[in-house]
Amino acid sequence: MKHGLFVLLFAAIFMLMEVEGNGCGCGYNYANKATDGPAPGARRLASYFKKRYGGRTEIYNNRPVRGGKNLSLHAEGRAVDIYLAGNNGRRAFDHAVSIACAHGIQEVIFNRRIWTANGGEHHYSGSNPHTDHVHIGLNRCGARNFGA
Ligand SMILES: [Zn+2]
Repeated sequence: MKHGLFVLLFAAIFMLMEVEGNGCGCGYNYANKATDGPAPGARRLASYFKKRYGGRTEIYNNRPVRGGKNLSLHAEGRAVDIYLAGNNGRRAFDHAVSIACAHGIQEVIFNRRIWTANGGEHHYSGSNPHTDHVHIGLNRCGARNFGA
């Protein structure tokens, strides 16, 4: 009986940690100023997904959003592109969405689909269809703290 209570207690604490994550939430921060390289959380996010799904990863690139004028999250080193396709890409997309709000992920894009906290998952109409890579964008807090 005592043992059972301890198991319940630990399970509750573990679930709380899973829900709370790093406290960064999944609120959206637009990019507005290029940095000079990848953010530490983005590096850790890249290795977290590479370890589980494989694929080449890219982070830093000082450029506008493809087909648009806004600065890309890649210019602030806050987005990771993981070169995966098909089911593997979709699994990585679902995985990123499932941990997003606990860990400071603000957007996930793959195969003409985009997820954000505000919009949920819906059609992505950007000029790059993201059929050969999963794009995972971190908010500023996540860019510092993901995986820390
Ligand atoms: Zn990208």
